[in-house]
Amino acid sequence: MSEYILDVTDVDKNFGGLRALSDINLRVKKGTVHAIIGPNGAGKSTLLNVIVGRLAPNRGRVLLGDQVLTGKEPHEINQLGVARVFQTPEIFPELSLLQNVMVPAFAKREGIFKMNFIKSLFAEKEVREHAEHLLDDVGLISQKDNIAGSMSRGDKRRLELAMCLGQQPKLFLLDEPTAGMARHDTNRTIDLLKRIKERGMTKVIIEHDMHVVFSLADRISVLAQGAIICEGTPEEVRNDPRVKEAYLGG
Ligand code: ADP
Ligand code: MG
Repeated sequence: MSEYILDVTDVDKNFGGLRALSDINLRVKKGTVHAIIGPNGAGKSTLLNVIVGRLAPNRGRVLLGDQVLTGKEPHEINQLGVARVFQTPEIFPELSLLQNVMVPAFAKREGIFKMNFIKSLFAEKEVREHAEHLLDDVGLISQKDNIAGSMSRGDKRRLELAMCLGQQPKLFLLDEPTAGMARHDTNRTIDLLKRIKERGMTKVIIEHDMHVVFSLADRISVLAQGAIICEGTPEEVRNDPRVKEAYLGG
């Protein structure tokens, strides 16, 4: 088995005449946090969308462990163990917070098409307890019976984190998880991400906020104009003149 859980090789992605990703190579070791940073429009979200199967690359290949993800549907990639939170929270707005966390955990456990009524009755108590535990983890337990659609944006993002954690993914992708959050919510979210780091879950995090990146990441790749211009430890990246140029000179 490879020590890498994610292996992106030679990926290009064009939108008409625009080359959004150019010759991307990215490998992420199991159990690490890998950050992708770069200016607005650099191609960060496009790269995540290629990994999760929402966009087909024009060239290249994505592997999860030994499995080829390229060409698979987003739900298949999710079933294989890739969970993600997007820039805009994706939740079930009419359901309660508790139900929101239970649905994906159930689907993962039973297989959505194999749900068996009797088995589900037994599984429900366990799934519910686990979901409550997750809501407690993200600081939302006191609101568990509230309707998700009525929450603040910061709370929706934390709910989405709990939904993803409930799937116990092999690889967890986060696209700007603290975007639009007040400082207080950002700090709580960083604390949460640090705690799940201790559990050894592999994460790829896209982040604008340098404070967040440097306190969380084991390695950082810097994307500018669709290409990775630098990769290394936070210390190496911080001191790389190309990074300063991409951010300041851009
Ligand atoms: P980032 O997440 O780093 O801010 P994106 O990946 O969203 O950047 O975008 C990279 C480039 O690709 C930008 O120039 C953006 O306008 C363009 N782009 C992104 N998605 C699409 C799309 N669906 N169709 C056309 N152009 C797109
Ligand atoms: Mg983006």
